Amino acid sequence: MSLFTPTQLFDAHKFTCAVCNKDIFDEKYFCQNCFNTLPFNNAKTCKLCGSKLVGENDYCAHCKPGRSFYEKAFSSFDYDGDIISLMYAFKYGNAKFLAEVFAKYMANTYLNADLKVDMVVAAPLSVKSLLKRGYNQSLLLAQSFCNLANLPLIKDNLIKIKDTVQQEKLNNYERRKSLMGAFALTEGKVFENKIIIVIDDVKTTGTTLNRIAKTLKKAKAKRVYGLTAVSSRDKTITGTKRR
Ligand SMILES: [Zn+2]
Ligand SMILES: [Zn+2]
Repeated sequence: MSLFTPTQLFDAHKFTCAVCNKDIFDEKYFCQNCFNTLPFNNAKTCKLCGSKLVGENDYCAHCKPGRSFYEKAFSSFDYDGDIISLMYAFKYGNAKFLAEVFAKYMANTYLNADLKVDMVVAAPLSVKSLLKRGYNQSLLLAQSFCNLANLPLIKDNLIKIKDTVQQEKLNNYERRKSLMGAFALTEGKVFENKIIIVIDDVKTTGTTLNRIAKTLKKAKAKRVYGLTAVSSRDKTITGTKRR
């Protein structure tokens, strides 16, 4: 008796490790070696934005309690190790199959957070970025995530009306400034009194999530949470004194 059907044998995504390409014989996406070194974000995290924390503080250097439009954010991985190249391949290398890989861990993170959520939105790209990249990686994540978490995805409603430079290239102040007025809703009623989770690929300072949350709260959303695959601690502030 054959253990694998020909389709499974040739399905490179499910049966090779997403990091090292080694053959694996289950659907875990990673071989045991690579899995053991993945930077899961499950130790101490910032109480607001969910970034990995080192040291005694409850909040990271970016976050001050009571100063955000979103309630809390979560992420599955810390921006470290093999996750850096995986995320790069996902965002810029057309490795769309990684949406399924990341979404599986995001669904886990979501279940562990024990939230009651009504609906999901994906962080949008501007029309210009979408044309350039050909796909919105956050929407791919949100679609896979919604399948796993059995939640409705509200598509094409939250839009990015301002084309901004890549956020990674900006400092904190520039990020806030560049994202002002960047998001809009084509129809707000659907969010009224709802608890919403915003799905994005990477969170750095939380500015994108905060702007989206502000837009949703203006439409009378009840609560807004964020969930990203990866949480990147801003390298520009690493090693500096906390404010
Ligand atoms: Zn591997
Ligand atoms: Zn934080």
